[in-house]
Amino acid sequence: MVKISVLKNYKMLPSMGQVIAKTIPPFWNNPSRKSRHESCVLSLFYNPKSPIFKPPKKEYLRCKLIRGHKRILRQIKKCIIPAKTLNRIDPSNPSALRQYEALRNCYYRNADELDPLTETVKGPITDGRAKRKSAWCEDIENSFNMSFCRSYFAPNSIRESYFLYVELIFMELDAEVLCDKFDFHCCREKNHSGECIEKWLLMKNIIQFDMIRELDHEPIVCSEIILPNYGLDKLKHAHSEMISQANM
Ligand SMILES: [Zn+2]
Repeated sequence: MVKISVLKNYKMLPSMGQVIAKTIPPFWNNPSRKSRHESCVLSLFYNPKSPIFKPPKKEYLRCKLIRGHKRILRQIKKCIIPAKTLNRIDPSNPSALRQYEALRNCYYRNADELDPLTETVKGPITDGRAKRKSAWCEDIENSFNMSFCRSYFAPNSIRESYFLYVELIFMELDAEVLCDKFDFHCCREKNHSGECIEKWLLMKNIIQFDMIRELDHEPIVCSEIILPNYGLDKLKHAHSEMISQANM
């Protein structure tokens, strides 16, 4: 098991700047750059169901993550290892199981506070059991507005478990798996490239840090992070691909 601070983890990614430089226009330095940065990262992805390949919306992402986070805490309570959707865990991947264990420990340390917050009825009017049968998906996404999300992420136990949850989602650093989990795509190519991995790492950074700071909260960086060895291999591969492309 390798424990590593997430900040050290990001220092290992110097070529993230290359992706940003390629894709972020000059308004990067203006006062609203944080939200622009988020929009720019989202624009690296597209929704395959949209006829004009629109990028996913921030509301869609928030809705998916909060629902997934609440669901995984309920799954932990019921001793279920999730097998589907955003939360799915490959039971043959020991690193993912160890990361799940770290999230479980966090849940049990805070169960009294987390249980009531993760009930299906505790959500926007269109969420979970409270969902109107006729509600359109977009209505549901829009109900995860800033005010709801700000109050959802207010407790420390929610932010600590959310941090570990995001680590778990990205445990399998495989673009195909991540496209499937998030239901949007990183490219239109038949085979993903090293650049796809970089895009997904930018996405991870957005949802783990920027999304929380935008809600006026500070992310809780938890030290119980498992770094899978194959993740390092893929990063090295991604870097060497970027370098060889740059030299062409
Ligand atoms: Zn791709």
